Amino acid sequence: MRVKSEKKNRKNPSTGRRRESPSGRVLSRRCGKALDRSESDQLLRWFDAVRRDLSWRRRRDPYSVLVSEVMLQQTRVEVVERYYEAFLASFPDVRSLANASEEEVLARWSGLGYYRRARNLHRAARVIAGRGTWPRTAASLRELPGIGEYTAAAVASIAFGEATLALDGNVERVLARRIALDSDPKRALGRRALERAGLDLVDGGRAGDSNQALMELGATLCRPRSPHCDVCPLSEGCAARALGRAEDYPMRRVRRQRLAVCWVTAIVERDGRILLLRRPPAPGLMDGLWNLPTIELEAERTDCSDRELARRFAREYGGRWSVAGARARAHHSVTYRDIDVLIVEASIGSRAEVAESEEAVFVEVAKLPPSAWAELPTGALVAKALEALFRARAESTHAGQGSARSTATGS
Ligand code: SF4
Repeated sequence: MRVKSEKKNRKNPSTGRRRESPSGRVLSRRCGKALDRSESDQLLRWFDAVRRDLSWRRRRDPYSVLVSEVMLQQTRVEVVERYYEAFLASFPDVRSLANASEEEVLARWSGLGYYRRARNLHRAARVIAGRGTWPRTAASLRELPGIGEYTAAAVASIAFGEATLALDGNVERVLARRIALDSDPKRALGRRALERAGLDLVDGGRAGDSNQALMELGATLCRPRSPHCDVCPLSEGCAARALGRAEDYPMRRVRRQRLAVCWVTAIVERDGRILLLRRPPAPGLMDGLWNLPTIELEAERTDCSDRELARRFAREYGGRWSVAGARARAHHSVTYRDIDVLIVEASIGSRAEVAESEEAVFVEVAKLPPSAWAELPTGALVAKALEALFRARAESTHAGQGSARSTATGS
């Protein structure tokens, strides 16, 4: 009759609190093993004692929580710390964000990368401002543009107290280890097992803190390598630890093979200004941001002559191009692509010659670094390419001075 007792102990949907068995213990739905309910209390006690003082943890309103959760997707905590308060200072509430232009939003996002997130956040703000009220559950937050399952659950639990589980990569690792999950956590079966295990740890009265505690645990103790099981609040009931195989979980998936690619990026300088181009927003790489003119070379054609490169830039962007040779190299990566970037100096007949599909602007070099171009959201490659170019120029000036000095000394 174990199945029956498991059903009895599901959370009360109206309060989100766990129903206890007569013995006061919560039953794991995965294997029927009794879990001491003090585990979720232990987790919260640990979190209360060690939680990092991060800017977004000082705010609980849904807007601030949503902004932080979107920023934290694929971006390190230290980086988000640098941008979060400034973004909220520019757009202090959902209405101010909704009323801003996309250009302004992207400019304030500049430096955080993955600009699609900023566009979706902007669109979501417009929907919320238009309705005049916030969706308060994970299911209704999920209907906002670009808000995935994790973000919806995080906002619902932290801002509105919903007893739901926010399952990000860190939490997935903690839970997969805790139950020694022997299937792929990305597939339905594995995911359901993790959700059940995670919900057992969510305290109905402090759901947001429970979720943040699990995230914190994954970020600080239950690291991918060398987890600190000896000080972990969940160590007692952790199956992977008991097996002595913590690092084997979660089960690895076969990774997509990385692809080596070559791009050529053109620096077109005119009167101390550099040409940036922008394509109208559309799905795809670098969508809607200002970028240096860039073409991709086929793997077998990376040794193109300057004339051939000029022909290709003209084909891609319109106008009459000439290329004056490679000046520097940089490395860039986008998802599974490792990109070797060749930086060339080039000129174009006239700005008016740029193809109609492009917007063009010449930006003062003096306004470097690009993050200072508050009014102009740029792709990450712009900063990298310009830094590599100016470093190469400085080195060549330095070498020139050195050789001039040795010539003078020698004469
Ligand atoms: S005991 Fe170790 S493996 Fe298990 S959750 Fe804690 S840190 Fe992770």
